[in-house]
Amino acid sequence: MVRRLEAQGITDQKVLEVMRRIPRHLFIANSLWDHAYADHPVPIDRGQTISQPYIVALMTQALQLTKTDRVLEIGTGSGYQTAILAELARHVYTIERFADLSEKARKLLTEAGYTNISFLVGDGTLGWPEAAPFDKIIVTAAAPEVPKALVEQLAEGGRLVIPVGGRQLQTLLALTKEGERLRREELCACSFLPLVGKEGWPDEETWLQHLL
Ligand code: SAH
Repeated sequence: MVRRLEAQGITDQKVLEVMRRIPRHLFIANSLWDHAYADHPVPIDRGQTISQPYIVALMTQALQLTKTDRVLEIGTGSGYQTAILAELARHVYTIERFADLSEKARKLLTEAGYTNISFLVGDGTLGWPEAAPFDKIIVTAAAPEVPKALVEQLAEGGRLVIPVGGRQLQTLLALTKEGERLRREELCACSFLPLVGKEGWPDEETWLQHLL
């Protein structure tokens, strides 16, 4: 998997080293182990997916993590990205909207010995004001636009990596906070599951009511 990531253009040696070390299959159901290191997303519970290795590597590289960083992650999911962040940063604050996914990730990562991760169940589009500001923020679900709360909770000079666009197709953005403005880099086209919340997409129930 890591040789393929290098061929795909991932150059950050720290990211490659951590992804070589973390057993990705532990975050995936046994019945899907054949797919654990393949170059595509894999289903987890709740109709969600663990992101494709290339996208995980690209987003992590774009964050430019250092050992002193406090990082906010929106979309804990399987906890795989969380583990990578925890290896490369000082502390990870991770928010997931589904309590069962959050609990499963917490159990797995605690058993694996991580002590620098805080878990929250809730709407990540509102961020985690009590723990702000964050040096880095990563959003692993597709946003219609950049949630305001996340920009507010980003430290000066901090980086925010987030897929922004339509429900099916988005552009992966790396934004850097420079005073009042956000410097914007476009990384690639991508397709994430929707970020569902107040500053994201409506959930299915609200969506249906809206249609009636
Ligand atoms: N990074 C994870 C999961 C990616 S899937 C992994 O690789 O395993 C995206 C996750 O974002 C899903 O678990 C979904 O439930 C979660 N999510 C969607 N909207 C959210 C929101 N508003 N707040 C927190 N989590 C959200």
